[in-house]
Order: sequence, then structure tokens, then C-alpha cells
Amino acid sequence: MILVLNSGSSSVKYQLIDVEGPTRAKGAKIERIGEPGSDVPDHEAALSRVAQAVATESAAITAIGHRVVHGGPRFSGPALITDDVIKQIEEAVPLAPLHNPANLAGIEWARRWRPDVPQVAVFDTAFHSTIPPAARTYAIDREVAELYDVRRYGFHGTSTAYVSRVAARLVGQPDTANVIVLHLGNGASASAVAAGRCVDTSMGMTPLEGLVMGTRSGDIDPAVIFVLIRAGMSPDQVEAMLFRRSGLLGLCGDNDMRAVIARVEAGDQDAVLAYNVYCHRLRKYIGAYCAVLGRVDVIAFTGGVGENSSLVRSTVLAGLQPLGIRLDPLRNVSARGTRIISTDDSAVSVAVVPTDEELEIALETSAVVARTKPQ
Ligand code: AMP
Repeated sequence: MILVLNSGSSSVKYQLIDVEGPTRAKGAKIERIGEPGSDVPDHEAALSRVAQAVATESAAITAIGHRVVHGGPRFSGPALITDDVIKQIEEAVPLAPLHNPANLAGIEWARRWRPDVPQVAVFDTAFHSTIPPAARTYAIDREVAELYDVRRYGFHGTSTAYVSRVAARLVGQPDTANVIVLHLGNGASASAVAAGRCVDTSMGMTPLEGLVMGTRSGDIDPAVIFVLIRAGMSPDQVEAMLFRRSGLLGLCGDNDMRAVIARVEAGDQDAVLAYNVYCHRLRKYIGAYCAVLGRVDVIAFTGGVGENSSLVRSTVLAGLQPLGIRLDPLRNVSARGTRIISTDDSAVSVAVVPTDEELEIALETSAVVARTKPQ
């Protein structure tokens, strides 16, 4: 049994997974760590709750898989945790100042709690390590870029790896499919995957770039930032605005797509603009990734919005028949779970694939442990 631990900035999620089934024994999310009025003062307290919750299964745990947001430039796959690996995760802290310290708190706690079992770090950036230099390099002064590790890293890699693999199998091309993965949750990203290898992704050095998100702006002209700073905003204020008060929230006051859609249906013009900006950006990235891949076999929707909103899917794909994309309106609104929602004669299949990051972390953890076991 693998214990999957996602020790995030304000919550700790865990799941116990038997990868043979695969079956899930138990799991939960402990939220609001360190917030005023919360009864979970810090990560240590949240993690001791995990230990209590899995006390009866503790002996059956054979490995612990940790979600780590930023692997920096060094990790191209999951890694068995050693002192050296911890040092390298620490070195990536400037690239993910909120997330990596919280991930490290989980790792350090788990090593003390169960020093007898192997621990594996599964990085959100790793699946994107195959992105070629032409797509991962920002066109800025190379010396500056090298000094500060400035480049596209990409995020949602664990989800994208899982969803692209399931989508490729779904269209009967497990090894050869070219897939566009649209992970549309509170954070959102698009990725282009060619025969199992990621070749481009919309998030960059941080998870701010690319699509319009719940509270993040996605792409803007970087010079906007200097205009705002010269106008009197501090760098921290601009950063907080772009990460926490932009995207759907900034445009219409709601970051939850369900609320935005309800307001669109009621004719609210701010919500209509937010919805249109969100969908326009997505269409732009689909077009871009059709060009990057040349041939697209399947477009896979995942994440809270991608899995549940037939309206977003149909808005985004409307009028793309010239690109060989034909959504089946009935399949789009009926059925649930992993499924094809394009017409039988659509040159490009369209799929909905519910993501399962915990299962992917458990599978990768188990594979690393199997590889490193003394024979
Ligand atoms: P996630 O981060 O993957 O949990 O996704 C969260 C997002 O999914 C939120 O913005 C929700 O509004 C959105 N979402 C969940 N269900 C629906 C739905 N039925 N229609 C539209 N958006 C949804």
C-alpha cells in the first residue's frame, strides 16, 4: 500500500492506495492550516492527524509518495528521497516560495515518522522536462536566464501525464497519439504531448503564465507590471493582484466557473466578458498546439471545469470543424467519466478524462521503489 501525501501551502491531503487494484483504502484533506480560528496551527499538527488516521493501516504502508510542486532544472522524473534530493528541492524554493517549503515539511515529517519505508518525490514539473529548448526558452538575455534558472518549467505535470496516457489508450494509440491536454481547474494549463512526451505547455517559470484561471491572469504583456510599479504599486502588490485577484475573479468578482456561468445565463455583462476572455484564450492555445503538434489525435478535457462543464467545452470547440474537430452535442452533455465526446467522423477525437493525480503519484512511487530495490 502506498501513502500519497500532498503537503500543500494551506492544506494536507493524503490517500492510501493499493496500486495492484488499484483501490483506495482511505483519504482526506485537512484544510485551513495556520489560518485564524483554525484548530490546525501548523503542518506538524496536520501531519500528526494523518498518522492517527492511518494508524490501523500503518504496517501495510510500503512506501510514501510526496507531491512536490517545483523540481527546478534538475529533476526529469520522480526521485527516491535522499539528503541530496532534499537539498535540491530546497534549492528550487525561490521558484516556488509558497509550495516547496510546505512540500518539504511533509517530506521531513514523513522521514521521521516512518524512517523504515522508502519515500519518493513526484514533481509537478517533471513531465515537462522533455519540452525542447525552442519551446522552453524565453527570449531574454541568456546570461540573466542562466544565472536565475529563468525558463519555462510547466506545472500540472502529474495530471497531464496521467490524462494524456488515458486519452491515448482511449483512442487506441497508446504509444503514438498526439494529445492536447486541457487541465481546467482553479489553476488551468494546456499542454501538447507527442507520443507520450510533452513538447509544450502554457504555464511557465511559475504557474501564472498561459490560460485565464480562477484568480490568476495568465498571459499579459510583461511591461504592464512596470507601468503599474511606476504608477505607485509595489512589486508585492502587483504580484498579489496577478496571482490572487485576477482571472475570472478579477474580471467579474467570481472565481468559481459555476457561479460565472449562472451569471452568464442571467445576462450579467461582467460575467459574459469574463467567460468570453476565458474561452477565447483557450481557443488560442488549442490552435497554437495544433500547429505545434502538426497532427492531433485527441483533445482531452480534465479538471473541475474541463470534466464538468459541457458549456465551456462546446463554446471553446465551436467552429473548429476546419481543424477536423467535431463535438457531438449529445455525447458532450450526456454520460460521465472517461469518454469520447466527438462525432465518429471527427478527424480529431475529443475526450473527457477525469484526472487522478493521487493514483499517478502512487504508480510512479511504486515504480521508483521497484527499480531501486536491491535484487
Ligand atoms: P479543480 O481545481 O480541478 O477542483 O476545479 C475547480 C473548478 O471547477 C472551480 O472553478 C469550479 O467552479 C469548477 N467546476 C466544478 N464543477 C463545475 C461545473 N459543473 N460547471 C462548471 N465548472 C465547474
